[in-house]
Amino acid sequence: MLYSVKMRASCAGNHISGAEKIVPAATVPQTVAQLAERALTHAKGTPDFINVKIEDPGEILHLPALPVTTHATATEAEGRATAAELLRNAGITRIDEIMSRFAEASSLRGAMLLDADTLERLEPDPVRGVRATYMDDADSARKGTASGKNHYAEAIVLATKVQYAPGIVGEICVSDDPDYVTGYVATREIGYCRITTIKAKGSPDGGRIFLYRGLRDQVAETIRFLEHQAVIVDNVPVLPPVPLPAPVPRCVSPAALPQRPRWDSLAADLAAIHAAGCHRTVSTTDDRQPTSGTSDQRRPTCLASNDYLGLATDPRVCRAAADAALTYGAGSTGSRLTTGTQEPHLALERHLAAFKGTEAALVWATGYMANVGTISALVKKGDAILSDELNHASIIDGCRLSGADVIVYRHRDLDDLARKLAACREHRRRLVVSDAVFSMDGDILDLPRFLEICRRHDAFSMIDEAHATGVLGATGRGLAEHFDCDHADITLGTLSKALGSSGGFVCGPQTLIDYLTNKSRSFIFSTALGAANLAAADTALTILEQEPDRVARLRQNATFFVNELARYGIHTTTESAIVPIIIGDERKAVAVSNILRDKGFLISAIRYPTVAQGAARLRVALSSEHAQETLGAAAEAIAEAI
Ligand SMILES: *Cc1c(COP(=O)(O)O)cnc(C)c1O
Repeated sequence: MLYSVKMRASCAGNHISGAEKIVPAATVPQTVAQLAERALTHAKGTPDFINVKIEDPGEILHLPALPVTTHATATEAEGRATAAELLRNAGITRIDEIMSRFAEASSLRGAMLLDADTLERLEPDPVRGVRATYMDDADSARKGTASGKNHYAEAIVLATKVQYAPGIVGEICVSDDPDYVTGYVATREIGYCRITTIKAKGSPDGGRIFLYRGLRDQVAETIRFLEHQAVIVDNVPVLPPVPLPAPVPRCVSPAALPQRPRWDSLAADLAAIHAAGCHRTVSTTDDRQPTSGTSDQRRPTCLASNDYLGLATDPRVCRAAADAALTYGAGSTGSRLTTGTQEPHLALERHLAAFKGTEAALVWATGYMANVGTISALVKKGDAILSDELNHASIIDGCRLSGADVIVYRHRDLDDLARKLAACREHRRRLVVSDAVFSMDGDILDLPRFLEICRRHDAFSMIDEAHATGVLGATGRGLAEHFDCDHADITLGTLSKALGSSGGFVCGPQTLIDYLTNKSRSFIFSTALGAANLAAADTALTILEQEPDRVARLRQNATFFVNELARYGIHTTTESAIVPIIIGDERKAVAVSNILRDKGFLISAIRYPTVAQGAARLRVALSSEHAQETLGAAAEAIAEAI
């Protein structure tokens, strides 16, 4: 049995010294004696109050110590530049603004918790801050010794725990001792990077800033982890860190160099993913029956794919792909602006524009690249992006890459959007971006109201119709058809979902398309999509135009399936082809999905980090080609499995 032993000493209410250990029961008395001695002999003065708390720390998580490097810097400016460089590599950009917050942070008892992108304060108690506690290094836990104060080991233990907290992406720590100029920056990628001079001698500004990136409703879990989860850190280096070795002379063979434990650190990250029940592997779906009945138990019926209209396996679509490959080749041979543009690219772009009713369209190799390349081309530093908190990862990545200020508004809360947009008048351009159909819950954006707010604030409106094309509107033309309203300024879609092929596209005015052709890096610097994918999508689009009853059947299937689930007491809704069934616990969701697989149904369990922690779910994706008997049997199986 291990105990947490914590000591805090003060004089006239002023903090003098504090320490904590996690030790075996047998060594608790000795640890208490050592901590008391430390309090009584502290250089800051004689305490009039020493509090020692001994308690069961609960379940203990083992973490590998962050790797340590030292960066020797001579001046404050050099130290800050080093910190900025290190953190930029880990995707944290607004370092100067973050550093300027130390004036505020130094008055806190704990650390300041900032949104890494918007720099908003996230702690519920801004006076106290957040305190990382319940941690120790494995060595002292094993031996039960509280072997004097080792500032260095304690800092690594703390930094390690902080970087494993959910949502934390980095830490900056600067000593608040006016005589001590050292600090460190830490992330899981770069490790613990000690910077020998990071502030001016004599400055009392210092403290800790933790940087968070994630959903607002997950902040409480992050704070719980920091303040209550017991952690033991393994392999904390014993000696003070050695300076980085001098550059290796060119003639040394790599085999002669000592191996750094690079792979151990990857394995440790994987272990943490396993421990959270969130480990994933790839598996083939060769053995599935796309949409048909369950007669053959070895071939489960798929209720998980994005092939909403059954077009991925339609013989006409597959034939078009094969013919195009024979005519135009297997690959396009170059990027769009060099040798990669072939007739099928232009034909599909014309077809997409006509289908959506816009002036022009442009195709990328994937929907992910279309989002990343469009957003990062439209806005940059000095601009603002307003983004729904549940937007797709490819939108989030585009926002990060752009360098613009990213302001996240609450999910589908257009009042929140309007308020936040009103505060962005000083920005050069404003871009508001939202999924049309949200990919995890299948709920939809109120496009008319969205457009009204964007126009009122002179902002570009952009929607991502990945799950709306072929699904919403009487003929599958998407959200504008569904609401019978105008288009967003920028409408993005994929060829890879209802159209059964692969690729991404943007529809909009000719000016937009010209601009993206010249500015979108993922369009310019990547090989153009192959003719087979283009011809498949083009043919799928023609089928969709000729057979709009597929869209109607899909809608009927969604209504039927939701009603069937309700018969078994499972209440959910959908406005699209995606039906969420909330389970909660990550492991339970996986177990239910596995049982369903045994019963002959392929239904995905969606877990953190795709959705919030503790909100794991089944995500049923319907097809126009599912028979109602199949859907009835699936609803029954889901109810039994749960
Ligand atoms: C799938 C998806 C994408 C990415 O499209 P790919 O063609 O698969 O790269 C973009 N946005 C949303 C909302 C998606 O669901």
